[in-house]
This record gives sequence, structure tokens and C-alpha cells, in this order.
Amino acid sequence: MSTPQLGRLAEFHRKKQLAPPTDLGQGIHALTIPLAGSPLRSVFMYAVETSDGLVLIDAAYDHPTCWDALNDALTEIRQQVSDVIAVLLTHNHPDHIGLAARIREVSGADLVMHARDDFLGQRRERGGFLEQLRTVLGQTGAPADVIEEMYVAATKVAVHHEDLVVQRLLNEPETDLVFGDVTVRAVHTPGHTCGHTAYLHPAGVVFTGDTLMPEGHTQLALAPLPSDDPTGDLLATLERIAGLDAGLVCPAHQYPFTDLAGRCRELVDWHTEEAERAQSVVAGLGDAPADAWQVAPSMSWAKPWDAMGTNSKRFALVHTHSLLKHRPEGQP
Ligand SMILES: [Zn+2]
Ligand SMILES: [Zn+2]
Repeated sequence: MSTPQLGRLAEFHRKKQLAPPTDLGQGIHALTIPLAGSPLRSVFMYAVETSDGLVLIDAAYDHPTCWDALNDALTEIRQQVSDVIAVLLTHNHPDHIGLAARIREVSGADLVMHARDDFLGQRRERGGFLEQLRTVLGQTGAPADVIEEMYVAATKVAVHHEDLVVQRLLNEPETDLVFGDVTVRAVHTPGHTCGHTAYLHPAGVVFTGDTLMPEGHTQLALAPLPSDDPTGDLLATLERIAGLDAGLVCPAHQYPFTDLAGRCRELVDWHTEEAERAQSVVAGLGDAPADAWQVAPSMSWAKPWDAMGTNSKRFALVHTHSLLKHRPEGQP
């Protein structure tokens, strides 16, 4: 992977343009898929060539523009959807699993995901994505009309495939997945979701989904249960994956980058400080128990709280809710 190519992908991101399919070497291609109507603008699907056929990482939104973009991108790298033998899903968010079932319909590909993100299996304990969202919004202390507006907006952004059937559910901290001459290691990386998984290619390329991007912070998982602590999960994940043998980091958004350990350290520091900031906002609010709705406007976001749209506020609010559940080691 040459540095000019990485620089070019970063440049496309900065100019808010969609990059063409990019050859990252070792039979790995970055495919930019536009996300209509989302502030994220686009998501990467990565295509990995193996002697058994093509493996994809993630599956964008369930939207005709995503399907067309995937087909066009695969044509450009002389592949097609029917060549796909497996789709490795980093996590169960609509911008990552949307086309999975459709790809399987065409190709018979196995879908792979961690069991803790499988809503069919997790439903009794945690509920599906929208149930979890409703529970969490209800716990934030936000007024009922705000909760309703945020919930409705969330259902409109994308199709949520809560009943996605996955052929291979991952249960272990690490699992080797063999595809002909390429063995990919699935590494459980909770924090952004309970079952988030990174995939390490033997050429030293790690696909990090939404856990680790080159800019900004990591959105925390919804935390509907009393024992949930996504900040604690994320900090442990970052400490662990910092040691992976990977010279190239391929996130699901923004652009690929090289310094895995350095970026992990940066994010550990940022999220540790953020948790402390949240506690100091709580302390400043006085004796009454503070909830996420009171704390969120005082935290640092990309835009001031009052300038944020409904979806951005929802992300910030549920993130704050998760943050407030963090108890650093040694604290009750
Ligand atoms: Zn996500
Ligand atoms: Zn995402």
C-alpha cells in the first residue's frame, strides 16, 4: 500500500467527495458506497480476493443507490456479486448490514457476525435495535416530545434489518476464518456495539468498522441494561487491538491510515478524559441525580448543542447516556 494512495483517499474525504474503488494491495480493495441522506455521507465496503472467491467486509445501507454503487464498484475491479463467498459484518448497524441478505440471495454467501450483535438471538435479553433505542431514550430524562421526534427520525434514516439471519455467529474473543489461501482473524471489539468485531487480514491489514477511525471519537453502544458499560468495553478493546500486527487500518468511514497503536492511545486518552468530563458536569449540577438530557449540552461535540439537528442530538444524547454508566476501576 503506497502512501500516495492513502493520501488520495484522505483528500477525497476532506473534499467531501466519493473516492473511486481503490486497490490497497494484497488483493484488497476499498469500495466507497454513498449513504443517501446520512451525515456520514459514505461507508466503505472492502473486497478481499481469496482462492475460494471474494470476501466482503460490511454491507452498507439497504438502498437502491448502495446496491448500484456496489455492483458498479465490483465491475470496476472485475468481480461481481455472484463471486462473493462470505460477508464479514463488523456490527449490526443499518449502514453496515443493509445489503447483506440481498448479497446472500444472489451469491449464497455466508453472513458472519458476532452473536452479541445478533438481534434474533439477543432479543430476549436486550431487544432489537429500535427497542433498545426506545428504552435508552426513555432513560435519558429527555421530554416525551423530544424522545418521540428522535425515535421517529431514527426510523426514517435507514431500514433496520432486525431479523437478519446470520449463518456463522462468532462467540469467541478471537476466531480464525479460513477462505482458501486467506485466513482472516475475527477479533471481538465491543464498545461501539456489544458484538462489534474487527477482522485482521494476514497481510497486516485490519478492518476496524466503527471502532477506530482516523478522526473524531468513537460513538458508544446503546446501554439499556444496568450492567452495560460501553466506555469500559471500548477502553479495553482499544488497549487490546493496539497490539495487533497491522500496518494498515481500514475503517468503515473516513479513510484508511497507518498508525494503529498511536491512534488507539489517542482514543484511550480522549475517552478516559471524556468520562471524567461527564462526571465533572454531573458534579457541577448539584445534588439531584443528573441524567443524560442535562449533561449532554455541556459535553464537547462537533457542533454546539443548539446548532445540532435531531439525528446528531440523538447520537450525542445516547452517547452521553452510555458515558454516564461508566465507573472507572475501583469506583462503586
Ligand atoms: Zn455503527
Ligand atoms: Zn457506521
